[in-house]
Amino acid sequence: VFQLSVPLNFLGSVYRELRQSLLDMETLFNLQRVNVAVKEKPDAQPLLLNRGGEIKFENVSFAYNPDRPIIRKLSMTIPAGQKVAIVGPSGCGKSTILRLLFRFYDVQDGRITIDGQDIRDLSLQSLRKSIGVVPQDTPLFNDTIEHNIRYGDITASHEQVIAAAKRAQVHEIVEKLPEGYSTQVGERGMMISGGEKQRLAVSRLILKDPPLLFFDEATSALDTHTEQTLLGNINSILKEKKRTSVFVAHRLRTIYDSDLIIVLKDGNVAEQGSHEQLLDRNGLYSELWNAQEMLFTEEEVEGKVAKGG
Ligand code: ATP
Repeated sequence: VFQLSVPLNFLGSVYRELRQSLLDMETLFNLQRVNVAVKEKPDAQPLLLNRGGEIKFENVSFAYNPDRPIIRKLSMTIPAGQKVAIVGPSGCGKSTILRLLFRFYDVQDGRITIDGQDIRDLSLQSLRKSIGVVPQDTPLFNDTIEHNIRYGDITASHEQVIAAAKRAQVHEIVEKLPEGYSTQVGERGMMISGGEKQRLAVSRLILKDPPLLFFDEATSALDTHTEQTLLGNINSILKEKKRTSVFVAHRLRTIYDSDLIIVLKDGNVAEQGSHEQLLDRNGLYSELWNAQEMLFTEEEVEGKVAKGG
């Protein structure tokens, strides 16, 4: 028995590694148009989260093409354990910041640190294991719903999968399916909506339970009510576990309660602060906020008129 258990354990860990690298591949595809040029240093170290996950950009510059700089001498701090939002006009480089943090690309100038460690000095595996991303669009594996959620942590029990699905507001939907958690999804399985996919991605992340969490327009396909409930659940998990989180968002209503809001423009920080502080400044944030509120109110009014009420 003893002799047998060793190779089995070994196989188990190979299997876990394989599953994990599939997960990373998945994230990789999601962050799109990625050129995998980064190299791990021969003496790469594992990430040590000894200050609770503080992320710093110090004078970072980056361009996909040399003639078109995207990030320009950007310095910003994402404090440990806080919920931080990155907002700004379309194309200002919000998703690029997440790709740099995940080290799909290396910065061309300056540095990015996590708890004081330059991410270029870290092993890619330890960096990416510490980060969980809910991207704009999550492709599902050709597998059951249960397995798709369990990719977050393949050692999770059925009960843990369900608990994660409940917090991600998708349990009730899954339960109503004829085959429940055994329903096949993915390209060859049942078609599910964008909003359901997003909630499966959040369930996965809840199971993975990484120290650093990034959300890239992660709830954009949900209706306002479901979105608010889901964001409330995510907030309570973040608070409970004191996780550092970064939310990239267009709709400011989804992030106005962040501890810190960083407003980007032309690849640099235009302004930062809390929602109230930024409204008081009457700058870019307040402009974006007022424009969106106006639209929101119009939609509300139109909605009521359309319903005849
Ligand atoms: P949005 O709010 O519209 O999602 P964003 O602020 O997240 O935009 P990014 O996706 O970071 O912006 O893109 C910043 C700029 O870099 C855009 O002009 C985009 O076209 C360009 N870009 C993004 N990815 C690549 C790539 N792989 N190669 C070349 N240019 C790219």
